[in-house]
Amino acid sequence: MFAETDWQNWCKAVESCADCPLKETRTQVVHGVLTKTVKIFLLGEAPGGQEDQSGIPFSGQAGAILNDFLRILKLDREQLYIGNTVKCRPVKVSAKGRYGNFANRAPKQSEIKACARWLPQELQLSGAKVVVTLGNVPLRAMLGKPAKVGDYHGRSFVSEKYGFPVFPLYHPAALIYDRAKEKEYLQDLETLKEWLKEESSCE
Ligand code: SF4
Repeated sequence: MFAETDWQNWCKAVESCADCPLKETRTQVVHGVLTKTVKIFLLGEAPGGQEDQSGIPFSGQAGAILNDFLRILKLDREQLYIGNTVKCRPVKVSAKGRYGNFANRAPKQSEIKACARWLPQELQLSGAKVVVTLGNVPLRAMLGKPAKVGDYHGRSFVSEKYGFPVFPLYHPAALIYDRAKEKEYLQDLETLKEWLKEESSCE
């Protein structure tokens, strides 16, 4: 059971954060939606254009793949807290950008470092028992060291930094651009399904 006031205070603080230059170009800070049934903290990289507009994580193209995630794992969206390692959209100027001549880019180290201060409390407040990371950036955040998701996906570990069991997956957006990874991703989801059963039987 989460503390409503602590959550509201956290939201208010993060929504007014100005700790890195991404505050200049964001439409809004994007964080997860808390429910009383959260079991899994799904930790992504950073919001994209659609998320920046809507304020809802995974509302863009990757959202369709998230639906596969929920279907295969037989979960409701309310059982996930969906958050990002960096909470404002990283952008680069591009004439092809869909939102105000900006396109998405990967977050810089300085932005990841600045935003790291929000994650510990977000993890605690979420009420989640386990963390599933999507892609390189959140994997490195949970490990506290450089790593590639290609070397870690599909195998659980315990984050010494945060004290959470973690299961790394490829980022769903990577599947959009590289369909060859889809098979591995689907196998990882089956492994994750079994791992979640084991984790919940230990509660
Ligand atoms: S990305 Fe993080 S550190 Fe930077 S302004 Fe947004 S909330 Fe603050």
